[in-house]
Amino acid sequence: MTLLRKAIGDHHRVVIKIGSALLVDRKTGLKSAWLDAICDDIAELKAKGIDVLVVSSGAIAMGRTVLDLPSGALKLEESQAAAAVGQISLARAWSQSLSRDGIVAGQILLTLGDTEERRRYLNARATLNQLLKIGAVPIINENDTVATSEIRYGDNDRLAARVATMAGADLLVLLSDIDGLYTAPPHLDPQAKFLEVIPEITAEIEEMAGGPASELSRGGMRTKIDAGKIATTAGCAMIIASGKTDHPLRAIEEGARSSWFAPSGTPVTARKTWIAGQLQPAGELTVDEGAEIALGSGKSLLPAGVRQIEGHFHRADTVAILGPDGREIARGLVSYDAEEARQIAGRKSGEIEDILGYAGRAAMVHRDDLVITGPIGRRNRRDDARKENAANVG
Ligand code: GLU
Repeated sequence: MTLLRKAIGDHHRVVIKIGSALLVDRKTGLKSAWLDAICDDIAELKAKGIDVLVVSSGAIAMGRTVLDLPSGALKLEESQAAAAVGQISLARAWSQSLSRDGIVAGQILLTLGDTEERRRYLNARATLNQLLKIGAVPIINENDTVATSEIRYGDNDRLAARVATMAGADLLVLLSDIDGLYTAPPHLDPQAKFLEVIPEITAEIEEMAGGPASELSRGGMRTKIDAGKIATTAGCAMIIASGKTDHPLRAIEEGARSSWFAPSGTPVTARKTWIAGQLQPAGELTVDEGAEIALGSGKSLLPAGVRQIEGHFHRADTVAILGPDGREIARGLVSYDAEEARQIAGRKSGEIEDILGYAGRAAMVHRDDLVITGPIGRRNRRDDARKENAANVG
């Protein structure tokens, strides 16, 4: 199957994520020439009728320069104060730069609950849609001034992917100082090969980004691949490209090097998109091989196939479903509280009433509430991934 990589201009709704270092220089502050150049790129896309949303980092970096804070780690309240000062100038800069092309900007600051709680998610989505309807460009960032470690996204890559799925975007562009995905970190491994097209985020691709269990991200690639999983599952393509040149979007259109992640061929429903993109599942269910195969063929997860249960979740919470090798394969809304789930794990559905004292749902996670998020039957798929990568090495 040949995968057709479309130009940015062939999409309908595009989210552009911009890393702090592109926008803000530690010493001199805002890089206004760069900002004006990307705003012109955005204006060109908008002139073609494309909706554009921007996820802009840089509040803390900007605040640091405005306040002239020393380099080194900041305490939580210091970085929150820096974000408060920086965000206001960042937003003004976007608004002024876009207005040169007659474009109106609207600021949206999100906290984790705005995408993780379904009601707030729907509300934030309605605001985004309204802004796009009136032709404005939403300028989005995490609300760093109130976010603390337990309740924050922490990185704008995943935030941008959540925004892309929330807005129903068909393309997410991550601009930073990395021009794309390599088979290994290029500064450490001279044999590292660049990957131009990634048809599917396989286990092998995840390993290139540092592996899910790794503490250290490789140049921020880990969160970018996580973002890719959220976006592509929802049918949204993703591009990782360098933003170091002026007019980075125009440069991509003109063939600058970048990695393109193909959208999933069968995008799931909006509700399943929301389930798949949950950043903090409340628990984990480890299943046996039979259940893994059943999930792969679209069946529900029955208690009989569940081996192990972790976490303190309640009925209807999102849980991650792990294969026998501990890798995440799916996510879904669980039909039982953790305690009940533990009692019926490994048992036949017909026994549920005897064990719990009431006739609960036959499925631990019903297929309507379940979405596949990882590679199933890893061993077979790894070979395919290897072949695909060999063919796509640029
Ligand atoms: N929200 C942070 C800021 O604006 C940036 C987080 C990130 O770059 O991933 O400073």
